[in-house]
Amino acid sequence: MKIGVLAIQGDYEAHGRMLERLGVEPVYVRTPADLAGLRGLIIPGGESTTHMKILTEEGLLEALRKYSAEGGAFFGTCAGAILLAREVHNPDQASLGFLDISVLRNGYGRQLSSDVHLGASKLKDEPLEMVFIRAPIIESVGPGVKILAEDAGHPVLVEQGRILAATFHPELTGDSTIHEYFIKMARNGHQ
Ligand code: GLN
Repeated sequence: MKIGVLAIQGDYEAHGRMLERLGVEPVYVRTPADLAGLRGLIIPGGESTTHMKILTEEGLLEALRKYSAEGGAFFGTCAGAILLAREVHNPDQASLGFLDISVLRNGYGRQLSSDVHLGASKLKDEPLEMVFIRAPIIESVGPGVKILAEDAGHPVLVEQGRILAATFHPELTGDSTIHEYFIKMARNGHQ
């Protein structure tokens, strides 16, 4: 099974290493052609404005819409979650809009160092390590969105159909729980 990692900007290599660790070959996606045959696509953290600019320039915006319409699974982390969101504030900006959530960019302030929290989730009994780096806050979620983890009163890990989004960076921890969950999701989505 092939899972893609959008590799135009940000911390995509850490996602690739996590997939390799789980026995899945990562495909680094830089052009629309790279999406062929993928069961899922990870959109990494980085800077969402830069991501949107490059996606538009490379013709990837349309390609991702097509890939989504055809049933492709997505996992967005931090800036990736912002790109997937239906609505983006602070400032308002365009997004892919596949996931029915509204987000506030840099919702905790533009902290330079990372904040690590431990929190409960629906994915396992032990707490999840959550690394927040200039993270967005999920302000509201639509009725079809399942909240898998919360932190400080806000959803931080959510799922809707074959779309998964975290406002933190699971790829920067040694815990592969969320990536394993996404791989299962991508596999099941195409049965
Ligand atoms: N602050 C970034 C943005 O708004 C996201 C940061 C991240 O992905 N770690 O796009």
